Amino acid sequence: MHSKNKKPMTEAERRHVTRVKLLPCGVCGEGGGDLAPSEAHEIEQGQWFTSIGLCADCHRGAINGLHSQQRIWKVLKLTELRVLNETIRRLYG
Ligand SMILES: [Zn+2]
Ligand SMILES: [Zn+2]
Repeated sequence: MHSKNKKPMTEAERRHVTRVKLLPCGVCGEGGGDLAPSEAHEIEQGQWFTSIGLCADCHRGAINGLHSQQRIWKVLKLTELRVLNETIRRLYG
């Protein structure tokens, strides 16, 4: 699916998202690195500098996923902004 109003990423955005994907999942801490890169979730579409790295389960899983029932998010009392804060802390840490 190609969305018409989705702009191509800039070089700087691409570099940033690459770094975000190398972080472990911002919710459960699994994965990360070259072998199990996280997925980049856009809190707001196309705003790549506020993207967060999530494992497939915490991102799209039927029960835990942010895009579905969000069970692990609720149990851990996490929000996208809290995970973004942690993402930035890790990138600059
Ligand atoms: Zn996860
Ligand atoms: Zn997403």
